[in-house]
Amino acid sequence: METASHAHPTPRPSRGAHDVVVVGGGHAGIEAALAAARVGARVALVSLRLDRIGEMSCNPAIGGVGKGQIVREVDALGGAMGAVADATGIQFKLLNTGKGLAVQSPRCQSDRHLYREAATAVIRAQAGIELVEGAASGLVVEDGSVRGVRLADGRELAAAAVVITTGTFLRAIMHTGEDQSAGGRVGEGTSAGVSRDLEALGLALGRLKTGTPPRLAADSIDWDRLETQAGDARPAPFSSRTDRSLFPALRQIACHLTHTNERTHALIRANIHRAPMYAGRIQGVGPRYCPSVEDKVMRFADKERHIVFLEPESLSTDVVYVNGVSTSLPGDVQEAMLRTIEGLERARFLRHGYAVEYDFVAPSQLSDALAVKSVPGLFLAGQINGTSGYEEAAGQGLVAGANAALWVRGREAFVLGRHEAYIGVMVDDLVVSNPTEPYRMFTSRAEHRLLLRCDNAEERLVPRAQAVGLVGDDAVARLFARQAERARIESALARIRRDGKSLAELLLRPEVTWESTIAAVPELSALGFDDEVARAVAVGIKYRGYVERAEDNVARLRSQDALEIPAELDYAGIRGLGNEARDKLARLRPRTLGAAGRIAGVRPPDVALVAVHVERLRRERAAAPARPD
Ligand SMILES: Cc1cc2nc3c(=O)[nH]c(=O)nc-3n(C[C@H](O)[C@H](O)[C@H](O)COP(=O)(O)OP(=O)(O)OC[C@H]3O[C@@H](n4cnc5c(N)ncnc54)[C@H](O)[C@@H]3O)c2cc1C
Repeated sequence: METASHAHPTPRPSRGAHDVVVVGGGHAGIEAALAAARVGARVALVSLRLDRIGEMSCNPAIGGVGKGQIVREVDALGGAMGAVADATGIQFKLLNTGKGLAVQSPRCQSDRHLYREAATAVIRAQAGIELVEGAASGLVVEDGSVRGVRLADGRELAAAAVVITTGTFLRAIMHTGEDQSAGGRVGEGTSAGVSRDLEALGLALGRLKTGTPPRLAADSIDWDRLETQAGDARPAPFSSRTDRSLFPALRQIACHLTHTNERTHALIRANIHRAPMYAGRIQGVGPRYCPSVEDKVMRFADKERHIVFLEPESLSTDVVYVNGVSTSLPGDVQEAMLRTIEGLERARFLRHGYAVEYDFVAPSQLSDALAVKSVPGLFLAGQINGTSGYEEAAGQGLVAGANAALWVRGREAFVLGRHEAYIGVMVDDLVVSNPTEPYRMFTSRAEHRLLLRCDNAEERLVPRAQAVGLVGDDAVARLFARQAERARIESALARIRRDGKSLAELLLRPEVTWESTIAAVPELSALGFDDEVARAVAVGIKYRGYVERAEDNVARLRSQDALEIPAELDYAGIRGLGNEARDKLARLRPRTLGAAGRIAGVRPPDVALVAVHVERLRRERAAAPARPD
């Protein structure tokens, strides 16, 4: 089946106490369970350990470039990630402030223990979710449809839909040097049964890997010799629900940075034969954009040093996360290597770094509702779909959970377009791909990124979320209040004049910002505007021309979607079409450009080429003399 189904045909009553079972209490599973419950499903969330719900397997940070936008979108769609990060953040920073509006992204470092507790509290507070501790060992399948989950202790959870979000746990192997052990994360098991059942259902699985750096004891680091990195002086929260008067909720900390050096690199090179990747013990491919330190040293041999961030993991422990030196070298090499770095000469190891290799399901087997096309009732989200990162997992979890609940009720699927959300871009990218490395979000993946900003996530998504029941009246009221404030600010900026020009006109000058304007115009500050909204308005004014052009572009592309493709169009004659696209278009003969674009393997540039040829054909026909009948 090539095209994704947008409609959910009929209601699917469950025979058990639950409509939807979500397997896995990670970042995808949390949002999946919450979204399904908000849409009205009775949900069971089953996870290996309930005390590890919301565990951050790697760095204790949420957001970042491209990812911060996803967090804001998850929040606008009623999800938990933004509010949990706000409540547990110990350093907030807006990244890329010196660059264009489209790529500015919020990031926060969270207290990992408090994050877990806060995420668990949100799940427990949501009506309609039952938490079940246990290991899913397989799927219950009847007549080709999924009807529930089997647990290792013999229990069975019946449901009309199942969302699998097992992260890095499918047939997972952890590597540190020559040592290997089964498990998706230190202290937890692996999920071989789920992999076997997915294969038995005919799904193609692949292998990927990721890794994590060592953790050090804070009192063994010479902090005074390191460069300090403070958070923002006026931090902004992710969530529209966070009470600004109580934010930030926790004491804020500074991070520090240092660098590797030639001695570190020499040690790595001398021991590279002991790295599992280089010794051929790992087959899975890791993320190119987030390489291990051994990869960095071997691949970028001319670089004299690499940056290392020291990030405290919690206010209540002395564990420090050593960002930038993800490694699976043997423990003794890790220790010697880190002790060559300035400030870390006395470093005491609390945990060695390790790599984990795991199965993923090729996501081209999914519809844009994240449903497995060939297995009714089965939905997948998160790392299992070949992605990497908490935020990517959360965004997918929300989509899969909402769609599982909608499917059970026989309602139409909830699909976000590429012009509406980074989440839409991610899902659209995934369902036509077979990743050869873990997929992560970058702003460059979104062709409409100027429209997909952090500051307009609510405007873009609250109405969509309300239409399917993902958010209630409170979210809509917050959106209206924000829009009213925006209008108040815009009118003041248009009304108040200086040197013969309105403040709005003055804001078009590159050197003029909201901060400089409010400092220079006392009558503006007297109006007591919401600072966050005001900054967004000011930036919006600066970029208005670009934004309007981007909106026109989207409108043009969308009207193109409905454009009919003449049946006689000769795809073989279109130069530049990808081979896969050419074969599929010729075979499936989609009726419109929109339908062409939804075929797995036909990418936006292919659609653009087809559009040019459709237009050419139309002009040729118009110019051709009328045939005498
Ligand atoms: C060692 C390591 C290093 C990483 N490094 C990075 C990195 O550098 N950068 C990055 O972006 N991401 C990294 N990640 C990935 C990041 O942790 C994930 O992208 C993110 O957590 C994915 O969320 P998820 O919900 O898909 O899976 P997870 O957060 O892994 O959650 C999976 C959940 O499923 C549960 N589970 C698994 N199997 C079963 C079962 N059979 N039955 C019941 N429950 C089950 C687990 O207990 C867990 O709660 C790393 C992960 C690991 C393990």
